[in-house]
Amino acid sequence: MHEKSRQELVNGLMSKGITDPEVLKAINNVERHKFLPKALEFHAYKDIALPIGCEQTISQPYTVAFMTQELQLKEGQKVLEIGTGSGYQAAILTNMGMKVYTIERQHDIYSLTRKLFDELGLRIYAKYGDGTIGWSEFAPYDGIIVTAASPDVPKSLKSQLAIGGRLVIPVGNKSTQTMKTLLRVDREEYQVKEHSAFTFVPLIGREGWKEK
Ligand code: SAH
Repeated sequence: MHEKSRQELVNGLMSKGITDPEVLKAINNVERHKFLPKALEFHAYKDIALPIGCEQTISQPYTVAFMTQELQLKEGQKVLEIGTGSGYQAAILTNMGMKVYTIERQHDIYSLTRKLFDELGLRIYAKYGDGTIGWSEFAPYDGIIVTAASPDVPKSLKSQLAIGGRLVIPVGNKSTQTMKTLLRVDREEYQVKEHSAFTFVPLIGREGWKEK
C-alpha cells in the first residue's frame, strides 16, 4: 500500500536537493502513514509537517531527509535523537542500519511511540526525560540529531559527541531557526556549518527553553 505515493515523495525530495542514496532508500522503505493518527494517513506522503497531538508535529519529510543526510552516518554507527515525537525520524535511522537512542519529554507521546516501535518490531532504545542533557550512559555518539528548536547548542550534547561525529540542530528563536551542523574535530574543536531556515516546536529543558 502507498508504494506509488512514497516513490513520488522520493522523487520530490531528489528535486529539492536530497542526493544521499541511503537516505532516499530509507524514505522509500519506511511507511510514514504508520506514524500518523489514522485521520491523517491520507496526507502521509505529502512533503509537509503534520500534527501528532499534544501540540507536537511529525517533521516534514524534506527536513528529516536533510538532517539525516547531514549526519553522514554509516551502517552500524550510534546515533542519539532528541525529540522522539511520532518516531518517524528514529525509524528512518534504524532502517539505514544505525543503532538508535531517542529521548522524549512528553510522557503520553513517549508511551504511544514506544508501543508503536514494539508493534512494528523496531529495535530502538527509547527513554522518557529531558534530552537537552543527553544520555551519558551510552555516549559517545557518532551522530546527535535534535528535532526541536533550541536557543543555543546544549553543552551536554556537544560533550557526548564522538570525535569525528556530527551534531545537527536547529538554533534560533521560537519562530524560526537556522539549521547547524557541528563536526567535532577533536576534544575542544568543533567546525560549524550553517544552513537555511527551518521551523520546529521548542526544545524545552535544562539546556533548552525554560518551561512556561
Ligand atoms: N523527530 C520527531 C519530530 C518531533 S517534534 C518525528 O520524527 O516525528 C519535537 C518533539 O521534541 C516533541 O515531541 C517534543 O515533545 C519533544 N521535545 C521537546 N523538548 C524536549 C526535550 N528537552 N527532550 C526530549 N524531547 C523534547
